[in-house]
Amino acid sequence: MLVSAKEMLEKAHAGQYGVAQFNINNLEWIKAILKACEEAKSPVILGVSEGAAKYMCGFKNVVDMVRNVHDQLKITVPVAIHLDHGSFEGAKACIEAGFTSVMFDGSHFSIEENIAKSKEIIEFAHSRGISVECEVGGIGGEEDGVTSLGEVANPDECKQIADLGVDFLAAGIGNIHGKYPENWAGLNFDVLAEIQRKVGNKPLVLHGGSGIPKEQVLKAISLGVSKINVNTELQLVFQDATRQYILADKDITGKGYDPRKLLAAGTDAITKKCIEMVKDFGSYGKAE
Ligand SMILES: [Zn+2]
Repeated sequence: MLVSAKEMLEKAHAGQYGVAQFNINNLEWIKAILKACEEAKSPVILGVSEGAAKYMCGFKNVVDMVRNVHDQLKITVPVAIHLDHGSFEGAKACIEAGFTSVMFDGSHFSIEENIAKSKEIIEFAHSRGISVECEVGGIGGEEDGVTSLGEVANPDECKQIADLGVDFLAAGIGNIHGKYPENWAGLNFDVLAEIQRKVGNKPLVLHGGSGIPKEQVLKAISLGVSKINVNTELQLVFQDATRQYILADKDITGKGYDPRKLLAAGTDAITKKCIEMVKDFGSYGKAE
């Protein structure tokens, strides 16, 4: 059974470790990540962007696929299926389609509108036992043009959203989506500590987790981050392993063109990377 992300993140917050949100793109991603986290005895959140859901033929198909793979592989660790950066309409549609967790990202609205819309999503989701992540302020990234600082959230606005009863909160602390620029200034730990102080005992979320140096991630976890979003990192190991397979002429040797063989190297690379990352984040063995 797929579960809400609330309990696993509250446990992580109390135990000062991080749970990974790994974003999925297709069947290979789902299999690779679930296999890794079962082997690592780690709870996990499968992140689905609206774009990825569209690619996978809709929210309902994603939920059905994840549920079926989960049951077929006899997964025993806690698994949540979570909408990543959802719109207001997208979050509602996911709640109805069977997602166990949703993010409503109202960070591009005024704080008043963000509060009003977040409140509505939280009420709707909680009436069905589904966890909710909201976002305050902006997080730097390619949409905004890469800056060396990344965006930083206002701790008082974080408190306003936290007080609505959101289950976990995303707030910019200098993090960036995608690849980090050479001159990146690093995470702003003073703001992180201030946000955690204002929102009380609420798990915080670190977006753009691919490419942040490990010691900065660990420090963020010690200051209240319990969920770390990873997307690019898995795409890069999949791409590299697939590239090596083809450069080694394996696709033109024997039946190496078989898609199940062609995609196997990349898929195995995802599993390996996931195990490595949950070890880094400290969730390895926490679902035993
Ligand atoms: Zn994000």
